[in-house]
Amino acid sequence: MIDISALMTAASSATKILKDLREIDRGINEAEYKFQIAELFETIADMKMAIIELKEEGGEKDKKIAELTRFHADKEKLVVFEGYYYTDGGDGKPAGQAHCSVCMLEGCLILTSRARVGGGYTCPRCKANIASTSFPWRSA
Ligand SMILES: [Zn+2]
Repeated sequence: MIDISALMTAASSATKILKDLREIDRGINEAEYKFQIAELFETIADMKMAIIELKEEGGEKDKKIAELTRFHADKEKLVVFEGYYYTDGGDGKPAGQAHCSVCMLEGCLILTSRARVGGGYTCPRCKANIASTSFPWRSA
């Protein structure tokens, strides 16, 4: 992960090299002048790489922020019943199966499905078992 301070240090270094270049008497110190130019190109190349990495990191963060924003907006629409989150049946009462509480901690809304063996419900993503709770809206 690139930090902004490293980029600022590189920019300061480039500025110092430019100042040094201005003070070099090219007629006398041609080799020093060329060396400083090479240093400047290298520093600018490092800065370009750092900017590219920062741009990529920014894009990934934007994507993650959008995912979490969508997750929280969707979560707000759910109904909590006995500690589990359900889809709102339209009347403010829970409907269907619970969402996996384990996956919710990771920012994912995953509906559980009826377990093949035993009772209760299983998450298709993380395979967590949700204990069979009373589902009064189902037996009605
Ligand atoms: Zn899960």
